[in-house]
Amino acid sequence: MLKPYISPEGAVELASLRVGPVPPATEGGPPVALLARLPSDVCGCPEELWRVDGIIYLIHMEEDGSSEILIYTGEEEHERASTATTLYTLRAEMFALHATMGEG
Ligand SMILES: [Zn+2]
Repeated sequence: MLKPYISPEGAVELASLRVGPVPPATEGGPPVALLARLPSDVCGCPEELWRVDGIIYLIHMEEDGSSEILIYTGEEEHERASTATTLYTLRAEMFALHATMGEG
């Protein structure tokens, strides 16, 4: 069972989309969040920093197909090579990888 999450913006949007009443916004941050998007400080490649269910992912997009997904669980760090050549496909791989890491 997913824990409900409703952002203030989500409550406004749901009010126009739903027929029934909309619960108020919940406390706390979203379960999935893009924390940063910027060029790498080392090589200038596009990078995104995500938090998904408490796990931090840093995705690094190399145009030559040697992209990387770095995973920080708080206790462990992992690195996963990727052949993604766009941020869209690299992001999709990150979420697919997350789906293999337990609940989510
Ligand atoms: Zn790079």
